[in-house]
Amino acid sequence: MAPPPGSRARGGTASEGETLVDQAPATPPDRASLRAFTADLPKSELHVHHVGSASPRIVAELAARHPDSPVPKDPAALAEYFTFRDFAHFIEIYVSVVDLIRDAEDVRMLTYEVARDMAAQQIRYAELTVTPYGMTKRGIPEEAVMEALEDARCTAARDLGIELAWCFDIPGELGLPAAEATARMACELRPEGLVSFGLGGPEIGVPRGQFKPYFDRAIAEGLHSVPHAGESSDAQSVWDALIELRAERIGHGIRSVDDPRLLQHLAEHEIPLEVCPTSNVATRSTPSLAEHPLPRLVAAGVPVTVNSDDPPMFGTDLTTEYVVAAELLNLDEAGLAGLARNAVQASFLDTPAKSRLTREIDAYLTSWRRTQEPT
Ligand SMILES: [Zn+2]
Repeated sequence: MAPPPGSRARGGTASEGETLVDQAPATPPDRASLRAFTADLPKSELHVHHVGSASPRIVAELAARHPDSPVPKDPAALAEYFTFRDFAHFIEIYVSVVDLIRDAEDVRMLTYEVARDMAAQQIRYAELTVTPYGMTKRGIPEEAVMEALEDARCTAARDLGIELAWCFDIPGELGLPAAEATARMACELRPEGLVSFGLGGPEIGVPRGQFKPYFDRAIAEGLHSVPHAGESSDAQSVWDALIELRAERIGHGIRSVDDPRLLQHLAEHEIPLEVCPTSNVATRSTPSLAEHPLPRLVAAGVPVTVNSDDPPMFGTDLTTEYVVAAELLNLDEAGLAGLARNAVQASFLDTPAKSRLTREIDAYLTSWRRTQEPT
């Protein structure tokens, strides 16, 4: 894992291929130019949920397949439907979208269309968090879910130029039966592209340690451990994820900021956090963007990646999250490229793929700089 990205304020030694940058412009770039740069920056997404990525366009298509659903069928009405009054309302709407995933074709279509939305943002690689238990307990056969995922993965790579990988996660609120089923599917049906094993759902009242046997089993099968922790609870849940679940990356982990010893541990052991700023505000995990812990995590030397979580649900996308992070961290375009490199380094891609993506990021930054030179 590379060191965290540099900033205009902090400076550092700079060259392409390194993460620390010091290309302090005379005048800081504005939001519009940061967005324009980020829109075409080759990006990787490490923390994004499958159903939570269903945009109004995709939900409208799913709702059209299931006319008995209360979900509106046209995108304009859906935009209104997706305006959340509060977190309870968000959960209500989320559940109504989950209810639209009823057969294998729904799984395939959702997955492929999510990939299309990501590819349109120049996302080259995504580790998509899939909750197979949520689909199989509704009656979709396990093998059919795996086949639908594989079909979408292959066609997305062929048609859209995006590589998808899977993180199968336990819906923590459904307890040990869900953990058992998820571990079994991950280990016995293991689809192509499955790289990691996760744990989602609420943290409060759902101790991380109870899932140790299931993580042990997944890790023994060669899967990486990437549980959510330290999002809505506390730094102790991050310790539990590290010690009990042998986490290699932490989903969110922002409450690590409350424990200096934990910050030091994450920095020393180069354990990346998957930070999702807008999500954290939407779920009230942090009171506002201005108070988001991201700058303090970076200042402590913790490797961070920037991600979108449930982007349409939170009115965001990965490009927006990069711009938000640039503002929080006072980054310029070279710093944004550093964030993109961090995600590649923290990913579970193999070394040649990491090198290829990193070279693509560097080439993009170089060509962008040429456009900035006076003629
Ligand atoms: Zn998440």
